[in-house]
Amino acid sequence: MSKSRFRAIEGTRDYFGKDGERFDKAVVFAGELFVRYGYDRIRTPVFETTELFARSIGAATDIVEKEMYTFTPGSDTITLRPEGTAGVVRGYLQHNMDKRGDLAKFWYEGPMFRRERPQKGRQRQFHQVGAEAIGSSDPLLDAELVTMGLRYYECLGLRKARLRVNSIGCLRPECRPLYRQLLRDAIRPNLDKHCKSCQARFDRNVLRIIDCKNPECRKLSAGLPKSHDNLCPECAAHFEAVKEGLMALGGGFALDHTLVRGLDYYTKTVFEYTHEALGAQNAIGGGGRYDGLAEELGGPAIPGIGFALGVERILIAMEAENGCSCSYPLQVYGVALGESAHRAMSGMIARFRAAGLSADMDYGRRSFKSQLRSANRRQAMVCVILGEDELSRGEIVVKDMSEGGGQKTVSIFDCLDEVKAALP
Ligand code: AMP
Repeated sequence: MSKSRFRAIEGTRDYFGKDGERFDKAVVFAGELFVRYGYDRIRTPVFETTELFARSIGAATDIVEKEMYTFTPGSDTITLRPEGTAGVVRGYLQHNMDKRGDLAKFWYEGPMFRRERPQKGRQRQFHQVGAEAIGSSDPLLDAELVTMGLRYYECLGLRKARLRVNSIGCLRPECRPLYRQLLRDAIRPNLDKHCKSCQARFDRNVLRIIDCKNPECRKLSAGLPKSHDNLCPECAAHFEAVKEGLMALGGGFALDHTLVRGLDYYTKTVFEYTHEALGAQNAIGGGGRYDGLAEELGGPAIPGIGFALGVERILIAMEAENGCSCSYPLQVYGVALGESAHRAMSGMIARFRAAGLSADMDYGRRSFKSQLRSANRRQAMVCVILGEDELSRGEIVVKDMSEGGGQKTVSIFDCLDEVKAALP
């Protein structure tokens, strides 16, 4: 172990090597795919006012109650964003995009912060790619966005991503409020048998009792009324249309009444993507409709829907499913011996890069053997080798690093062509 006492803070981590590549691939592929569905890139600040999150996510949620990183510099109260939707909707309203009257679609990626207990797939700084479609309540839009998430996992080579959907209704008295009441009445006689957190949730966030992972609570919850059986007529029709849309678009799903999502702003459709490689934290993404959020933030009543997908958990799933099929290969590695060869090599590496190749060299002026070892460790496809003798003759050695690959000495002027010819 190194002697430095500095360590990444618990719940945060560094990304490099295969994980760094997978991370980039997850982000790049998201942008490429979402743009094809009409989503524009949006980048919002990493911190916002605390009130924005408290109002949108809900004061009685785990996130707002105990997981936010909140600071009070001067007289402000600011919070590192625990999720992306609130900032996007804030930006949408702030820039009067609601006045345009058409559908606004955004995608984003970036770090999120929650003070949770770190474990596999659960960090305090984690990353999400997300998409938000604001301005339509069409159930076909729900189906389009939800299947876009499935397509995204497919693009990354994940075949084992699964989709669960539910509807938690709307805020009309005859819909979710009535369902909440039904739930409370059904739970009350056995409340003392539930775990402590469920008991605490009974008054403030009773829906969360259904998704409690405690085995005892799960047993107790088995016969409870289901939200999708207790929707108002409009929400019931919406949910039917979402399911039909999903089937038409090839989005295989399972109906799961225990899926309620933890955030207050969700209405109607809620969904989660899971992957078996994750264990306890098996959600690789999730989202839902938030038809009341813009209004809650002081804007007009504009419906919206979105999802957020967890990059760290996607990386775990990618590793489990396909090792790392996504390696960016190092095409050329320059090995140089002697001071003038070293300088000449640095110019050649610049020329390889200018020609569009990935190329690198050792800057440690180490031995021939050590440099070749680095080339092997980096899985370089071709090595170009330059010593003082070769340099004085205007020559260079091009070595094919694939198994059984040979090497030849060529003129320095032909080097780029020879390297290209040696590449697969
Ligand atoms: P949520 O909206 O909280 O369900 O978050 C959406 C997705 O982000 C989840 O499905 C996870 O994949 C990911 N996620 C949420 N919290 C964390 C965390 N603390 N660490 C890593 N990933 C997370």
